[in-house]
Amino acid sequence: MKTLIVIGAGISGLVCGIYAQRSGFRTVILEKAGNPGGVSTSWKRKGYTFEGGIHWLIGAKKDVPLNDIWTETGALQDNNPVFFKDPVYTLIDGDVKLELRRDLRTLSEFAHEDRFRLAIMRFHVWCFSFFHTPVQDICGLKTRHPRKFSPIEFIKMGPAALLTPWLMSLSARNYIKRFRNVHLRRLLEAVVDPELNALSLIYTLSSFTTGDSGYPKGGSLRMAQNMADTFTALGGQIRYRTPALEIAEGGVRTADGLLESDAVVISMDARTAIDKLFTSPLQAPWATRMRRKLDTAQCMFIALGVRADLSAHPRCMQIQLDEPLHAGGIEFSALTVNNYSRDAAYAPEGCTAVTCILPGHSYEYWKSARADGSYAARKQEAVDGFVRMLAKVLPETEGKVEVSDMATPLTYERYCDTHEGSYMSEWKPWHFCCNAPIRYRKGLYFSGQRTAFSGGLPIAAETGRRTAQTLCRDFGAEFVSY
Ligand SMILES: Cc1cc2nc3c(=O)[nH]c(=O)nc-3n(C[C@H](O)[C@H](O)[C@H](O)COP(=O)(O)OP(=O)(O)OC[C@H]3O[C@@H](n4cnc5c(N)ncnc54)[C@H](O)[C@@H]3O)c2cc1C
Repeated sequence: MKTLIVIGAGISGLVCGIYAQRSGFRTVILEKAGNPGGVSTSWKRKGYTFEGGIHWLIGAKKDVPLNDIWTETGALQDNNPVFFKDPVYTLIDGDVKLELRRDLRTLSEFAHEDRFRLAIMRFHVWCFSFFHTPVQDICGLKTRHPRKFSPIEFIKMGPAALLTPWLMSLSARNYIKRFRNVHLRRLLEAVVDPELNALSLIYTLSSFTTGDSGYPKGGSLRMAQNMADTFTALGGQIRYRTPALEIAEGGVRTADGLLESDAVVISMDARTAIDKLFTSPLQAPWATRMRRKLDTAQCMFIALGVRADLSAHPRCMQIQLDEPLHAGGIEFSALTVNNYSRDAAYAPEGCTAVTCILPGHSYEYWKSARADGSYAARKQEAVDGFVRMLAKVLPETEGKVEVSDMATPLTYERYCDTHEGSYMSEWKPWHFCCNAPIRYRKGLYFSGQRTAFSGGLPIAAETGRRTAQTLCRDFGAEFVSY
């Protein structure tokens, strides 16, 4: 039996570990942190649960290819049924409330002046409704359950393929700019970070309209724990609080010594790994490109426990601010606020967990704040600003915030060692040339968020599976998917 070490129990490492273990490799996952899931995580504070990972799970719908990975790895089971929100976002802009529903036709009733442009956007979204994150078998694989890709499916993806270069060359902000109605523009800016390319926007909208993108009960931690349990039930071993220190001849060095293995999969951030895990920084053309060109996706995350029932308010609010909020050296004129009041397990009775992701590059800002000793004070300032803003829009929260928490890129760096504290791969216009290869050489592989575009959980899962297949092919093993 061949032995495998997977570095990282994030979603990609878990997917890879489960398939590898099932395919006959004796697999050990080394994880730096104390629990599975990596950056896809949720945590508890004084009776509140804060969801700091999954907001939209692509592949949650039963008939899309990615769903097979989520079911085969036990990520989705009876204990975490998926809920599909509708409306998906609600803009709150002074007295104006505008909903983004899964049926995009409802937008034309509000923004009559844009009905022609909205029809074009709906056409773009419709083209992508036939496009799914590909879950294919690699060439030359031995498997009992081959995945067949029918020519009809291929033809159906044609219109999306034709639109792709144009959408990739454009930012979401520039795509949205064409709409005249200011509220419509502001609502659409909630869907993805407007600096990402327009393909991310259209793809995400299409996942809403096709009834995908749900939220599994119990959120990130339940899902990651389900996967970890599947892996250990198969006989795999996870060693928590055991960082890999070095890829050595014949295995991986940890603080406990050398762990021998026939193969190693690096599923932690590859950008960090190429400089940290090798005796001397790894030299390869793609590694040089990565060092030079990689632009990281960063965010801050604010979570509040509020002693008030907010169930009269929408679940996911895009709030337009009359005064900007300053956090991490960035000025925000709008914020997307998640209201978990309808999820009973997330807060004590009559109370609500509220969260907000603030996207943008703030790593350097927080690093210098840490260096000059003002890190905690600046975090508190940002939280206070957020609390004041919330009280203006939802007056019942005034004076009722009993718990607050904030993560910065330094938090993600500390817990998961992601490069510059990034939280997923970046997919800006024309940005696609600095990935790590799945197979570096026989016995050494990469998976996860730096091995493919676009980003998020679909990429973590798909690359985890592809890496396990590559490993099976290299070692002449049969790939067993379920
Ligand atoms: C606030 C937030 C919201 C998000 N929302 C969504 C969403 O709605 N939908 C979506 O699709 N995606 C979302 N994402 C992104 C998604 O969670 C990530 O893209 C995905 O989880 C990345 O998985 P990964 O396995 O590739 O990497 P990681 O999660 O980074 O996993 C790598 C693992 O390696 C471990 N590690 C690092 N160094 C070492 C070492 N030396 N030794 C051992 N272990 C090590 C880390 O601790 C970590 O567990 C969100 C992320 C955040 C932070």
